[in-house]
Amino acid sequence: MTAVEVDDVTFAYGEQPVVERVTLDIDEGEFLGLVGPNGSGKTTLLKLMIGLHRPDNGTVTLFDEPAHAFDDGERIGYVPQDVTTAQSEMPITVREAVRMGRYPYRWVGRFDDGDRRAIDGAMERVGITDLADRRVGRLSGGQRQRVFIARAIASEADLLALDEPTVGVDAESRETFYDLLHGLNDEGLTIVLIEHDIGVVTTHASEIACLNRELFFHGDPERFVETNALADAYGGAQGVVHHDH
Ligand code: ADP
Repeated sequence: MTAVEVDDVTFAYGEQPVVERVTLDIDEGEFLGLVGPNGSGKTTLLKLMIGLHRPDNGTVTLFDEPAHAFDDGERIGYVPQDVTTAQSEMPITVREAVRMGRYPYRWVGRFDDGDRRAIDGAMERVGITDLADRRVGRLSGGQRQRVFIARAIASEADLLALDEPTVGVDAESRETFYDLLHGLNDEGLTIVLIEHDIGVVTTHASEIACLNRELFFHGDPERFVETNALADAYGGAQGVVHHDH
């Protein structure tokens, strides 16, 4: 089964396309790392994938529906890049934010023990149990990301889309974070993630897509490291270092 199908997609904010003729599928259960230089269209492509932008040309299909018309939002967990500023005024607690992930299961009626277990389990899973009664707006960026992920877990999301989730996070916390993502991916969650650190992403992702407006590479990480796609995408830029972890 395919989670996301991007078929010959072009998108422009103004005159010039920032994503051009990109074709790419994400299979269910895949862990796709999206890489490319700054301004290469990664965030835009991620938003196209989850229906936050509509292509000018081509189609994006999300779980067999046109992405822009996809209305089962709780199946998609999205952790935006600006999570540190997003909802900084959010007056709700961590537990309330995670509980929102259960709303689709409770159009009518009260939260039951199953919901409470899902909410508590999701908070424990990402290590925010001790923050349950804190206001989301008072948390650090990293903690807030975990709230978003816990909410996706509580809602039993099928796809998690993360935009540079480990920027500004120290190496140790980053490893813990990737361990969490691996665990979720092993349980069947499809993951697409933008990561600026090529060494980290080629270690962790099962597939790599390298973008610079157009798609320069899509395939497995080993092949990506062997090819020249990265240098091509960066216009032969120096200072791109592969390193193993
Ligand atoms: P990346 O995530 O690879 O850094 P983006 O998708 O954020 O790239 O941006 C691609 C290009 O589109 C950049 O030139 C950026 O300045 C431009 N861009 C991004 N968002 C907007 C927007 N809302 N309006 C106009 N231009 C935008």
